[in-house]
Amino acid sequence: MSDAPTRYTDLHLLPLAGQWRAGAAGRTLRDDNPYDGSTLLEIAQANRDDLDEAYRKAAEVQPAWAATPPAERSALLLRVVAIFDQRREEIIDWLIRESGSTRLKATIEWGAARAISVEAASFPSRVHGRIVDSNIAGKESRIYRSAIGVVGVISPWNFPLHLTQRSLAPAIALGNAVVVKPASDTPVCGGLLLARIFEEAGLPAGVLSVVVGAGSEIGDAFVEHPVPGLLTFTGSTPVGRNIGSLASGGAHLKHVALELGGNSPFVVLEDADLEQAVAAAVFGKFLHQGQICMAINRIIVVEPLYDAFAERFVERVKQLRVGDPQSIETALGPIINARQLRGLLEKIAGARREGARPLHEGGVQGQLLAPHVYGEVTADMEIARDEIFGPLVGLLRARDEAHALELANASEYGLSSAVFSGSLERGVAFARQVRAGMTHVNDIPVNDEANAPFGGEKNSGLGRFNGDWAIDEFTRDQWVSVQRTHRHYPF
Ligand code: NAD
Repeated sequence: MSDAPTRYTDLHLLPLAGQWRAGAAGRTLRDDNPYDGSTLLEIAQANRDDLDEAYRKAAEVQPAWAATPPAERSALLLRVVAIFDQRREEIIDWLIRESGSTRLKATIEWGAARAISVEAASFPSRVHGRIVDSNIAGKESRIYRSAIGVVGVISPWNFPLHLTQRSLAPAIALGNAVVVKPASDTPVCGGLLLARIFEEAGLPAGVLSVVVGAGSEIGDAFVEHPVPGLLTFTGSTPVGRNIGSLASGGAHLKHVALELGGNSPFVVLEDADLEQAVAAAVFGKFLHQGQICMAINRIIVVEPLYDAFAERFVERVKQLRVGDPQSIETALGPIINARQLRGLLEKIAGARREGARPLHEGGVQGQLLAPHVYGEVTADMEIARDEIFGPLVGLLRARDEAHALELANASEYGLSSAVFSGSLERGVAFARQVRAGMTHVNDIPVNDEANAPFGGEKNSGLGRFNGDWAIDEFTRDQWVSVQRTHRHYPF
């Protein structure tokens, strides 16, 4: 684009209660590039007082924002989309440098965040109230649908831009004010960049604040503060459970939307197209180094195809390039931080200890972890039971279709899943028996479309994002009845 805008500056400042300023915690967060360890920014973190100010300001300005005409809110979202287009390279560059995304993954993420912004632009004109018949003479029953008020958004580091925007864009479009708490590894992509974009698009000051702060200092207060009526959390199951119980477990009864961990089964039935299934398995496992909630966690292959699948899969995996995420050739970039890498190395050691057969073991260099593939994995091994969130995977041998289904469902999680079959209807019949929020026939489990319901079953979460489902999540119903004639009361 010829007239690309000047890049945003001062991204170390936080938009708090309508002003860009440093947080008052007296502690600094270093925002590092996970590939080369360089420091991108130093951010003065927010404390509880900053958070309180942000929530109070949001509550103050939200009614005026909700009262703006739907067309005005749509237009704002369309300007956000235009800025996404103008600043495409700047956004992608931040995703590569801050979250270790390969160029391909960063481009996919930019596209997903853009798509939910386009979808959200249609939300203001898709909010419908209802009038239902009353059994009481002279009464009219109206159901109004309005904004919830203030929404608190907590997002993870793996798809920070998209997973913040997946809550932020619908919430704002539907007339809510928002306070975002991005993950500490990705404060810019998960919040500060989006705040600049919304400001440039013309969002009134104070409708969106971003608090960057230590979970230990502001985590509980973020959830328990009296102002937010809805908390949306995307992250791990243990943290999500804690947030769910804080938000609506006793002292408080707030709405929560929880998008949590996954353990996606990728099932290959014996009539599947081997090449297609292998190609899908490689991409669905290793995109973003496997650090995706929907990433393939278990590859379950029905017996007659198991050996051929394993051989071809390993052949393909060996060709994947691991390295600098800026390079267009790179398939796998760095693991987000040293703690995650340590956890993955422990999982690798555990797989060996438990008797999984190594089929391919790549190396480790700095934050780069090359693919690891294990065969003869059983359902009780840690790499089958737990969410891996990295570039290693186990192959499970299924005796037949029924056994494959039993294995697929043998998990506490139920986010996404996939099945490959030569018969689409057989695939659909299998899919209908998988207990998961999302199942894809002859495709990877990593799918997210702005107009289709996204969410999990079992320990993978509560609620659904995208499309009509987001309109439900980010609004509330109120029954207002009107008694037009005098009513006779029994006493
Ligand atoms: P995480 O649970 O460690 O952190 C998520 C967010 O919660 C971060 O912003 C973190 O700062 C914040 N947080 C941590 N402790 C908190 C506390 N006590 N109070 C308030 N906030 C707190 O998860 P992560 O490591 O950032 O992300 C990886 C996990 O997220 C994986 O389990 C993955 O499956 C899951 N995930 C789920 C989805 C989904 O849509 N279902 C999408 C992406 C990631």
